Amino acid sequence: MREYAISLDAKKMPDAWYNVLPDMPSTPTPVLHPATQQPVGTEDLAAIFPMGLIEQEMTTAPTVSIPGEVMDRYLMYRPTPLRRAYRLEEALKTPAKIYYKNESVTPSGSHKINTAIAQAYYNLQEGVHSLSTETGAGQWGTALSIACSMYEMACKVYMVRVSFEQKPYRKSFMEAYGASVIASPSDTTEIGRRMQKENPGTTGSLGMAISEAVEVAVTSGGKIKYSLGSVLNHVCLHQTIIGEEAKLQLDSVGEYPDVVIGCVGGGSNFAGIAFPFVQDKLRKNLNTRLVGVEPAACPTLTRGPYAYDYGDTGKMTPLMKQYTLGHNFVPPGIHAGGLRYHGVARTVAQLVHEGVIEAISLYQNPCFKASLIFAKCEGILPAPESSHAICAAMDEAVRCRESGEKKTILFNLSGHGHFDLTAYDAYLRGDLQDYDLDEEILEKGRASIPDVKEPA
Ligand SMILES: *Cc1c(COP(=O)(O)O)cnc(C)c1O
Repeated sequence: MREYAISLDAKKMPDAWYNVLPDMPSTPTPVLHPATQQPVGTEDLAAIFPMGLIEQEMTTAPTVSIPGEVMDRYLMYRPTPLRRAYRLEEALKTPAKIYYKNESVTPSGSHKINTAIAQAYYNLQEGVHSLSTETGAGQWGTALSIACSMYEMACKVYMVRVSFEQKPYRKSFMEAYGASVIASPSDTTEIGRRMQKENPGTTGSLGMAISEAVEVAVTSGGKIKYSLGSVLNHVCLHQTIIGEEAKLQLDSVGEYPDVVIGCVGGGSNFAGIAFPFVQDKLRKNLNTRLVGVEPAACPTLTRGPYAYDYGDTGKMTPLMKQYTLGHNFVPPGIHAGGLRYHGVARTVAQLVHEGVIEAISLYQNPCFKASLIFAKCEGILPAPESSHAICAAMDEAVRCRESGEKKTILFNLSGHGHFDLTAYDAYLRGDLQDYDLDEEILEKGRASIPDVKEPA
């Protein structure tokens, strides 16, 4: 009998998150204060984050144990199934084995709730009852809304204006859980008013929405803290539950991946599936390939320089060394909204820089095509973001067909696409454009990258 879904006994759930920092092949790059350009201290971050998360942001401990209360929430939907894509393998006539971790079965429909629950919990521990955040496509806002409702906390979401208008049901989803949702840039913050004045009629961007949500926290006198859904170390840390479970599940069927694939927006779901395998690769000297996939319309890792940059348009966030298209870069309106970020997690960036992780970029049309083949074989309609990982995994499987190699491929299905039907509709009508970013557009974005000297 075929075992399509490989489960994991809840009693065998990993009880700690894996921290990649102590395993990094070279010293992690310091995070710098946006004004002084000197390394930030915990006190600098205390205006926006609770100490529990600041400690996790900086810790070099090899693991961080998962609090019982967070584990209890995880157990509502974790462990998520690891699935063997037998039918997809057959459709591709590949000798490769394809496995995927199904994060689409969470309450929010994506991996993001894994960190949302943890972040809400650590805030509540320190008496914070209100969070502000930004959301692009709406996945992160949804996840944080659900997590806040679990702990009866307030949640204020700045939603990129173009998504706010295109995806009214995302807003309803968040409001159903009690969140307040504001189109960004808005009139509710100083920075939002300024950005509207400087860019009349702007459709907004993640960078702008982050600035607004940070301002709300900074000016709240400690009542409201800010929460980010990707990029930061503590976010990547929480997501490692994905890869750790996958490792145990694969082990239970006597498998180990040759290739691990994830899509990359800010880098957190990729870090989640890949970092536990980075650990083995570095400690045991394995040659596992770890592949991050980004859209050709927002080619951060593949075409951005490795440099210090801000995380937001308003230059309120700390400076981090990363691959970046420039904090002013506004990517074309592709449908994988969650992959339209100018920068990336600094751990992922450094591992790409050192050759531990590979990065590739794909156009959206082949991704949607792959996504529908996957949907027909596996019965799950993927998020447009996840379709990038699927397409890369299928390309790898097809190469195996040609070479006869029996590789084991693992990818992360970061979420489902039930709120992305407008995108599928556009694809099916043949209305989706593939954007080739010319040097001119990239150069314009690059011009906003600050000239930062790394402290000696
Ligand atoms: C947000 C999102 C992503 C991209 O964010 P990362 O932090 O890079 O993981 C990918 N897939 C889905 C479904 C998302 O919601």
